[in-house]
Amino acid sequence: MAYLTLKNINKIYPNGYHAVHNFNLDIDKGEFIVFVGPSGCGKSTTLRMIAGLEDISNGDFLINGNRANEWGPRQREVAMVFQSYALYPQMTVFDNIAFGLTLQGVDEEVIEEKVKHTAEILGLTDYLDRLPRALSGGQRQRVAIGRAIIRKVGVFLMDEPLSNLDAKQRVTMRSEIAQIHKSTGATTIYVTHDQTEAMTLADRIVVMKDGYVQQIGTPYELYYNPVNVFVAGFIGEPPMNFIRGTVQGGTLGFGDNVLALDKKLGNKVKDYEGKEIIFGFRPEHIELGKADGAYQLETVVELTEMLGDNTNVYITAGEDKAILKVDPHDTPEIDEKITFSIPVENVYLFDGETEMVIK
Ligand code: ADP
Repeated sequence: MAYLTLKNINKIYPNGYHAVHNFNLDIDKGEFIVFVGPSGCGKSTTLRMIAGLEDISNGDFLINGNRANEWGPRQREVAMVFQSYALYPQMTVFDNIAFGLTLQGVDEEVIEEKVKHTAEILGLTDYLDRLPRALSGGQRQRVAIGRAIIRKVGVFLMDEPLSNLDAKQRVTMRSEIAQIHKSTGATTIYVTHDQTEAMTLADRIVVMKDGYVQQIGTPYELYYNPVNVFVAGFIGEPPMNFIRGTVQGGTLGFGDNVLALDKKLGNKVKDYEGKEIIFGFRPEHIELGKADGAYQLETVVELTEMLGDNTNVYITAGEDKAILKVDPHDTPEIDEKITFSIPVENVYLFDGETEMVIK
């Protein structure tokens, strides 16, 4: 197992495109780190620089405290699992999993024992004689993972490993990856654009946008203490609601609504008189009806989506759309006028210009 240090890592591609800016991160031994963000934000580029598949333009990359910028992929002792599986189609599952060890000239008996052990962890014991084309997508991905975990490496790198699977397989494989990490305890870096994967798998998440790290933290920290609108809107499903309004004498006005801010929030925005701020709350942090110690809003229901465990209620507040998560038994009618409450402690305020949280 290895620990990694990324200090001011930058990637500027030969065409001049600056894909990663000053990336800083210390990764502990055995940690499960997830890079998350929309397509094109620099996740794969960063992962590939760690793998040694892409040059680091500037900054320092250390493995176990040793500068590794110039090391080749082999010397770094990393194993990578790709989105495309990259299995050898003419080789059996056994040979695919054994491939790395065979190349290293490991003793046949040892290989046999290790492949069998790996296959057991991954539930592939009955498929060892099959060719990849006779496997489901999920099984193929397990073979690809098997090929990676059979070698003794310091770090596992996974680039969107579940994106070729259907929704159900993704959920199954996600928990399997968590199990594998638990049993191997290996340092892992996992790239995804899916916030649910990030939240469920990660010890710590790195949220990226346009080549810049936005925030690094545990799933809990990102959910409860997002630093800006981007992170708040990326984490959570449905994401946080944002209503833009203007501060006026201890109130927040948006559309025809005027909310009297309580003392604590009023204090936070005392320098924002006449300026725009963003009022944020999560769909699941509301109550229908009136409640004490809460902001109350009146609105009209535009659409409802009954999802089984909850109903999503679509509304408009001021100029902005919002979603409320309610108990399906309380699902309101379309066009119904409703009141809902947001407990004061569940409200987030952001600067209307910088979109950074107002502390
Ligand atoms: P992600 O993995 O977050 O989807 P990538 O790391 O693949 O994003 O890409 C980050 C940015 O760098 C994108 O804008 C992409 O178009 C650009 N990029 C990727 N590879 C190259 C390359 N070889 N040359 C120039 N630009 C590239």
